[in-house]
Amino acid sequence: MSISQLARSISESPTLRLNQTAALLREKGEPVIHLGGGEPKSKAPIDAIINSVNQMNSGDVKYAPADGIPALKKAILRYTEEHYNRLFAADNVIASSGAKQAIMVLLHAILDPKEEVIIPAPYWVSYPEMVKLAGGTPVVVTPEDGSFRPTMKDIEAATGPYTKAMIINSPNNPTGVMYSEQFIADIVAFCEKKSIYLIMDDIYNRLVFDGKSAPNCYQYAKDDPESSKLVVINGVSKMYAMTGFRIGWAIANKALVNAMANIQSQETSGPATPSQWAAVGALNGVQNLVDSLRVTLENNRNVIVERLKAFNGVHVTKPDGAFYCFPDFSAYEKNSQKLSEFLLEKVRVVTVPGKDFGFEGHLRLSFCGTIKEIMEGIERIKWALDPNSPNELYLGERKLVRDWQ
Ligand code: PMP
Repeated sequence: MSISQLARSISESPTLRLNQTAALLREKGEPVIHLGGGEPKSKAPIDAIINSVNQMNSGDVKYAPADGIPALKKAILRYTEEHYNRLFAADNVIASSGAKQAIMVLLHAILDPKEEVIIPAPYWVSYPEMVKLAGGTPVVVTPEDGSFRPTMKDIEAATGPYTKAMIINSPNNPTGVMYSEQFIADIVAFCEKKSIYLIMDDIYNRLVFDGKSAPNCYQYAKDDPESSKLVVINGVSKMYAMTGFRIGWAIANKALVNAMANIQSQETSGPATPSQWAAVGALNGVQNLVDSLRVTLENNRNVIVERLKAFNGVHVTKPDGAFYCFPDFSAYEKNSQKLSEFLLEKVRVVTVPGKDFGFEGHLRLSFCGTIKEIMEGIERIKWALDPNSPNELYLGERKLVRDWQ
């Protein structure tokens, strides 16, 4: 088969692949516990469903502007004013088919061949591949101290004449760590000084625990908004549990939004209108669902961290937000791919290898499932790894016998 060099350079999304594997095993009746997922279990807000269904019932489901319907742009602007205290115009917003597409058209709009994008590790699996798809070169910055917090010193050292942009994701996928107010202030100032695009992927910024809230990057931005290279990405997928609707957005200067809209108009046109109306409903509707999701996730976080702490040799950093934690299992197995495959094969628990996030020795465990699933998942992992475990474990009716050391 003849496929392009570009296609050959891009890896499959490991999380989507794991979802498929888990679904296939479940179909066969296997008692799979999915700690690999990246979506809340709750239902979409009723306001989203009503809005979307109303549009569908009208039968008038047509092409819409490539950068989003006016009602959605208005709702995003209102949201941005409420949560970032910044007033933008409709021309500063583009709605896309998921935050993923917003980032992708953004990268297409700013990168020339071989230009570099700095990505602190651990990073969301898609960033390096998206940069490559847009013809750029990902430059991964790994904290020397093994922590999950990038330092300005490392970022400055990685910045060179080809650096075009930087992607910051906080609270972070896969660690759940939220970067400090000082770090956000420093990175905004640094990017302004160097005239580098700063892409703030804020997709988890309302899912923050312990009464904290996420730093607001605009608070530190000094450049004029219309020449600013600060771009904020967000979407309805995580905070409203609306992953399947595929609506995300970017806020940027008007010239950049215009360039992104041109690209989007040629690639896909605007996002599906029933989804856009659903997003309008979610953004303008009752907001207590976001709070109840956050409370549920915080409770799940407490349970998973407590269970993991009782696990000899596993080191866990307490997540500040999102719904992932990223424990270090290297005392048991340094090769995270091998470990993840072993856990799926032996105890039917889905995890995501740290390697895919640029950090070996770790596994990403999601805590967006039920408490029961989380507790049983950790229990099974413990049984599989702890040499002092009893020889047998029951998964429902099924008896597992250790045939490994
Ligand atoms: N950014 C991060 C950090 C994510 O984890 C995800 C989803 N896993 C996205 C962006 C994409 O979200 P969407 O569903 O809006 O495309």
